[in-house]
Amino acid sequence: MTDTLQKFMFEHAGVRGEFVELENSWQQMQSHRQYPKAVQTILGELMAASALLSANLKFDGTMIMQIHGDGPVKLMVVECDADLRLRATAKLADDAVIEDHESLHDLVHAHGQGRFVITLDPNNKMPGQQAYQGIVPLDGEDIATIIENYMLRSEQLDTKLWLAADSKVARGLLLQKLPDTGGNVSHTDSAAETWDHAVLLGDTLKHEEILGNDIATLMHRLFWEQTLRVFDPLHPVFHCTCTREKVGDMLKMLGTAEVESAIADSGRIDIHCDFCGKHYGFDAIDCAQLFVANTLTEGTAMPASIKH
Ligand SMILES: [Zn+2]
Repeated sequence: MTDTLQKFMFEHAGVRGEFVELENSWQQMQSHRQYPKAVQTILGELMAASALLSANLKFDGTMIMQIHGDGPVKLMVVECDADLRLRATAKLADDAVIEDHESLHDLVHAHGQGRFVITLDPNNKMPGQQAYQGIVPLDGEDIATIIENYMLRSEQLDTKLWLAADSKVARGLLLQKLPDTGGNVSHTDSAAETWDHAVLLGDTLKHEEILGNDIATLMHRLFWEQTLRVFDPLHPVFHCTCTREKVGDMLKMLGTAEVESAIADSGRIDIHCDFCGKHYGFDAIDCAQLFVANTLTEGTAMPASIKH
């Protein structure tokens, strides 16, 4: 069972599209935890959107979508890199009781304080190079509308998204009108016509239809009358970037006092990765070594600067 992202173009019309289907990766992401239905829908849709946008970007790095919520959902994170390797997680408030019918607004923007941030974190950053961050206003009823509004405002690109997710699958369709590159008027007219028609067809998609049909069926049902150029499919996968070393670095950042007090309390520190559920255990000796190693790194770094 492999996941698929299928890119296509409307021939000679300046409109491109992508379908994504995340089944295997989405189920792996949920294998270590169960989300309430309403959270599942939004996190799955966010994941489908992040794969669609990442594949569209040609950006060598990782796209991170984060929604900091002010309601029962404190945080949703989806990360997708240039090879379409994805991971996602959601943190709920301790006392959260979430009903199936609750909306995105109820979950993360109940008091108008929710924040949605998209970060583009480049690979092999140059010294001093910052990751790009865009604030996405939470001005829509669902993830698709919010991202469409953002793309229009920030990139001046007409983009339409249709997204759906349940416990088994997250699927989505993206259509985008390419910017006019000049050319004759009749060509521009036909591009606008193709765009309007494609959006109209997309709007006929029902939620259950997206959930219940694979990409080939959906593509045929919508666009069988159009001349499409279809590209080789891509294959998104679940991939977590956590390592014991990174968890160790996090403990180091907490500082000796904090770590020693945790060890004194329970004899060891157990950390579970929120994204993949992997367990990392540190006993008293492991923790002592973390801080010894830290001292050594600093010690060896010193002479270099003295020599200079
Ligand atoms: Zn992990």
